[in-house]
Amino acid sequence: MTASKPNVLILGGNFAGLGAAQKIRQYAKDKVDITLVDQKAYLDYIPNIPLEIFEGRDPAVTMHMDLVDALARDDITFRQAEVEAIDVKAQKVTVRPSERPGAPSYVMTYDYLVIALGARLAYDEIEGFAEYGHTVSDAFHANRLIEFLENDYKGGPIAVGSARFKQGLKGKPDWLPIALAACEGPPVEVSLALAHWLQEHDKGGPKNITLFTPGALIAEDAGEKVVKQLLDAASSMGFSYINNTEDITRLTAEGIEFANGQKIKSELKIILPNWAPHAFLKGLPVSDEVGFIITDMKMRNPDYPNVFACGDAAAITVPKLGAIGHQEAEVVGRQIAKEVGMMEAEKADAPWMPEVICIGDMGGGKAFYIHSNSWFGGDIQDLEMGRLPYAQKMIYKEMFFRSHGKIPNWGLPLAKWSAETLKA
Ligand SMILES: Cc1cc2nc3c(=O)[nH]c(=O)nc-3n(C[C@H](O)[C@H](O)[C@H](O)COP(=O)(O)OP(=O)(O)OC[C@H]3O[C@@H](n4cnc5c(N)ncnc54)[C@H](O)[C@@H]3O)c2cc1C
Repeated sequence: MTASKPNVLILGGNFAGLGAAQKIRQYAKDKVDITLVDQKAYLDYIPNIPLEIFEGRDPAVTMHMDLVDALARDDITFRQAEVEAIDVKAQKVTVRPSERPGAPSYVMTYDYLVIALGARLAYDEIEGFAEYGHTVSDAFHANRLIEFLENDYKGGPIAVGSARFKQGLKGKPDWLPIALAACEGPPVEVSLALAHWLQEHDKGGPKNITLFTPGALIAEDAGEKVVKQLLDAASSMGFSYINNTEDITRLTAEGIEFANGQKIKSELKIILPNWAPHAFLKGLPVSDEVGFIITDMKMRNPDYPNVFACGDAAAITVPKLGAIGHQEAEVVGRQIAKEVGMMEAEKADAPWMPEVICIGDMGGGKAFYIHSNSWFGGDIQDLEMGRLPYAQKMIYKEMFFRSHGKIPNWGLPLAKWSAETLKA
């Protein structure tokens, strides 16, 4: 590290943190030193975890990409440590090395800070989850689910859905709606792919599954037109659907109890929880009342403009989607390049609107593709279902791993173009 160069410290190295690191290097070139801190040394390719278990692969084997190597290719320093505290006034971050237990805490300093620490998936807030709940958001839980399905499931009713998302309102821009669920692509995807898996294994099918949502409409960020098409297709296959459940009160052996007083009988409960901010982010001068980081559309905190956030940790990332985290990482890269004189303000500050892009597995080599910005006030609402979106999902993952996280600029437009223009 050279004393003369501005020092960019990035906290978190999954989709948003790695994306920001690579975009900063691409645009600011060698004008900055970049250090990235994560508690683990690999990128977890979360969106394909459900698909992997339903196709018989262990996501711990197939979905982890070496993060250190990806960063080293761009001369980005990696430090494996748990972030414990951030002091934005003193420009200091407290970290504890996490390669081995027993390390003391150290202080790191920065000129620019990028907070890309994601969120805490708060299963531990749901009463009865450990005893009766299942999920798919990491390899441990996904493997636990497939083992249950293979060995213990008796063919009874299955409920799939989300607990209520508790979004902060401080600093929320007017154009951003309030979401009752953080990310509802996964419950839709899991229901469809699981139904196919049940059929293949003679254990049932869509009729076993009830999809539920805390909101008035599941996956409403995808747009009403898209969701109506998806729900029509699901109900014609035999799925049941319950909305306005408000929140999960508790899980029991018999089923799920909801805040609106409803109950669903279910042998298997597959849950996506509240996306909660990390506890140490709450109460910071850059955070909203729950702990998400407040930014403007340049992904900068208005009071501390050398503090950036992107991905799930940012308050404006609603829904919580890796695709939106990537769009924000691009913005962070441009802003830091502008700071160090490597990009014109006109280009760096170009206005943008988030876009929901989601490809969900449906089982049997088919998937759905959603591209929409209606949640943010735009008029795009595209849905495709069939074999081509499935191929896109697999190719996108393959390109991501092969390019060490650097999907070429044409990657996403190509995926969009082919999924939207060619029919399966
Ligand atoms: C089952 C499932 C399917 C999904 N499918 C899609 C999809 O199809 N498309 C899509 O766009 N999105 C999808 N998502 C959402 C997507 O996974 C997230 O939006 C995305 O992972 C957010 O990226 P991120 O980098 O902001 O945060 P994360 O992926 O949560 O990464 C945060 C990083 O910070 C690190 N970290 C956290 N705390 C600390 C700490 N204290 N110290 C050090 N390091 C720390 C973590 O180790 C991690 O590497 C899905 C989510 C789930 C659960």
